[in-house]
Amino acid sequence: MDTIDVLVIGSGIAGLSAALSATENGAESVVILEADTEIGGSSRLSGGIIMGADFKLQREAGIEDSAESFYRDYMNANVWNLNPAAVKAFCRESGRAIDWLVDHGVQFHPALVFGGSENTPRCVAAVGQGGQLVNSLARAVREAGVDIVVNHRVERILVEDGRAAGVVADGEEIRAAAVVIASGGYGADRRLLAEHNPSFTATGDWGWYIGTGTARGDAFGFAEQLGAQIVGHDRGLRLLHPDFVHTFESYIPGWMVLVNKEGRRFVDESAPYGVLERTTHRNGGVAWFVFDHQAVDRSTAGRTKAYKQVFPEREERQSPNWNPAMIAEQVEAGRIHSAGTLAGLAEAAGLPADRLQATIESYNDDRPDEMGKDAQFVRPVAEGPFYAAEVRLATLCWTAVGPAITGRGEITDTLGRPIPGAYACGEVTGGILGDVYVGSGNSVGNSATFGRIAGRSAAQDVSATHSA
Ligand SMILES: Cc1cc2nc3c(=O)[nH]c(=O)nc-3n(C[C@H](O)[C@H](O)[C@H](O)COP(=O)(O)OP(=O)(O)OC[C@H]3O[C@@H](n4cnc5c(N)ncnc54)[C@H](O)[C@@H]3O)c2cc1C
Repeated sequence: MDTIDVLVIGSGIAGLSAALSATENGAESVVILEADTEIGGSSRLSGGIIMGADFKLQREAGIEDSAESFYRDYMNANVWNLNPAAVKAFCRESGRAIDWLVDHGVQFHPALVFGGSENTPRCVAAVGQGGQLVNSLARAVREAGVDIVVNHRVERILVEDGRAAGVVADGEEIRAAAVVIASGGYGADRRLLAEHNPSFTATGDWGWYIGTGTARGDAFGFAEQLGAQIVGHDRGLRLLHPDFVHTFESYIPGWMVLVNKEGRRFVDESAPYGVLERTTHRNGGVAWFVFDHQAVDRSTAGRTKAYKQVFPEREERQSPNWNPAMIAEQVEAGRIHSAGTLAGLAEAAGLPADRLQATIESYNDDRPDEMGKDAQFVRPVAEGPFYAAEVRLATLCWTAVGPAITGRGEITDTLGRPIPGAYACGEVTGGILGDVYVGSGNSVGNSATFGRIAGRSAAQDVSATHSA
């Protein structure tokens, strides 16, 4: 086989964006190798929410925003503990990436949504969620002449004279002038999770990863072959979850009361999940949901009455965990404690009775909520039977430990120098998604934006080599 200009590993949003961008920037032959039998990876499973600043849909909604303001918010939220050059490039190009997806046929709901606790809304939701996002982009990729080969797991990178020179897949050598690693995360590999995400594995058997089963962390091997630097220890978004069944639930109902092991509240329960993660982490990673039988009856009310964040296509979705049938089942199974009095509940759950009672009395009081929760979500916990369920930061949504990259998407070595011919983008990279999840859409936004950047850089560098 002739040498391919740009070879992309993985067909999620990052890999598809990289391939399309490479063709647009002069690469004549572009191939995607995908390990799975179908394309899309975790991107296909996603809610299709994407974050960016200063894009057409945002301007049409009358919202003024800028890459600079996004960058400041992003870095401040993460106390600057990130790769500034890469984050700056992400913020600068995030809006253009969303416009570019629209130009290539991806459909978004026109209404802007808040992804987290940002000052101005920066997110849009794909019509038909991740499935439509992947299918529309894949259509554009194929129309641009890119070959997408499924069922081809890349085993290793060919490294010659310190540069990436192709890959080996299914025992076959495939030579390429540039290789873009877009192989996603490693949540399906318990050994890698234990090594890179000790906070997650501390949740024991409760912990589960929601992404694709092919997120096996092959990129750690690729990074070793290239001599790349790995960054981002113990990062990855974790959601509060009970030990019921493995169903994905990003937001908790706003009427819940969340207490720590001392029986004290520590956060506004209607806050974005990135905030709930950090505050629960500070409280030992374990907490209890406390509610009464009236809350159970209310749980069948529409989503808009119980959640601060409501995304298009999810307005009528009921909570998979906090609905009457599931609650009855879990009380029966002993995973939700129940008692006629708060003192009895505290004893059953192993919480300090005097403190829990004081917490609930204060919560039921008419004064403005001490955690700042909006009055519409505050409902008294007043009539037994009362319930308590333990929750942990048990749902891992994505991983964020991986090769460091420059603002051009080049993989760097342990001295911070770009490795010729080697690029990476999306969930596989480290240093861009931080300790604080800036909000829904951050990960798809990063994948699409850096996919577009890495594909462009790869094509430009290949054409510069050809003409040298
Ligand atoms: C249920 C769910 C909901 C989510 N919702 C959102 C959301 O709304 N917004 C948001 O920002 N984030 C969301 N996320 C996270 C987000 O979807 C992912 O982090 C992002 O899509 C990752 O994109 P990617 O292209 O980097 O990786 P992926 O989409 O996972 O693609 C990587 C691909 O590489 C392939 N691959 C792996 N190893 C190899 C190999 N050796 N050779 C060849 N191919 C290989 C995989 O099979 C996979 O297809 C969600 C995740 C899930 C699971």
